Amino acid sequence: MKKAILLGVILCTGIVFGQGKPPTKPEATEVWSPVPPSVTPSANNQAPSDAIVLFNGANLDAWESVNNGSSAKWIINKDGSFTVKPGAGNIQTKEKFGSVQLHLEWKSPSKIEGDGQNRGNSGVFLQKRYELQVLDNNNNKTYANGQVGSVYKQSIPLAKASVPTGEWNTYDIIFHAPEFDKDGKKIKSGTLTLLHNGILVQDHFKLQGTTEYIGAPKNIAHGNDALELQDHGSGVSYRNIWLRKL
Ligand code: MG
Repeated sequence: MKKAILLGVILCTGIVFGQGKPPTKPEATEVWSPVPPSVTPSANNQAPSDAIVLFNGANLDAWESVNNGSSAKWIINKDGSFTVKPGAGNIQTKEKFGSVQLHLEWKSPSKIEGDGQNRGNSGVFLQKRYELQVLDNNNNKTYANGQVGSVYKQSIPLAKASVPTGEWNTYDIIFHAPEFDKDGKKIKSGTLTLLHNGILVQDHFKLQGTTEYIGAPKNIAHGNDALELQDHGSGVSYRNIWLRKL
C-alpha cells in the first residue's frame, strides 16, 4: 500500500512539473528558427563579410587625433601597417561602438629600448575607457596586472603568449559593454575576453570599471564610444584592424 502511494506521488510530481512522457522522436527537440545570418569568413584573419574595416593598410581615414579631433598623425608604413608617432598623442575611431568582436595585430619595435612599462607600451581602449595592455614583455619584468594581455590594473592574463619582439601578434577581443540605468547607475558590468595569438588570456572578465593609471576603477554612465589606441611613447605598429558589432 505504502509503495503504491509513493509511486502515485512520483507520477503526479512528474506530471505537475511537465516531466510526462519523454520525447521519443528526434524532431521533438529540433529548433528551426530564427536562422542566423550568413557571414563569409576570410583567410589569414582578414575581415569577414559583415565586418567594419578600421584599417586596411592604406590610410587612417577612420581615425582622428584624441587631442583635438584633427586627422590622425601616426605613421603609415609601406607594408600595410601603421606606427605610433611618439608625441602625436592617442588616436580614436571616428565611429562610436557598443559591444564588439574586434581583431587587430600589433608589433613591438624590433629595436629594444627602455624597460618595464617603457618598452613597447601601447594599449587598446574599448569605449575609450577599458584598456587591454599592449607591451613588449619579452625578458622584461613589470607588475603582473599591467603586463601584456592584462586588463590594465584589473586582471592578470591567464598566460603570457607573445611572439618574439618585432614579430606580429594578434588580439581577438570579445567586448560586451556595461549597461547603466536612466539614473546613471551601472546595472550590468562590461566583460572582456581576449585571445592573444589564439591563446585565451582573458576569459569573460567582468570589468570593475574604467582602467585607471592611479586609483580605483570608475563607473560613470556612458553610451557607445570610440575605440582608442595609445601613444605611450613607443613605436608600436598596428595592422589589419576590423570589428563586428554584437
Ligand atoms: Mg598601455
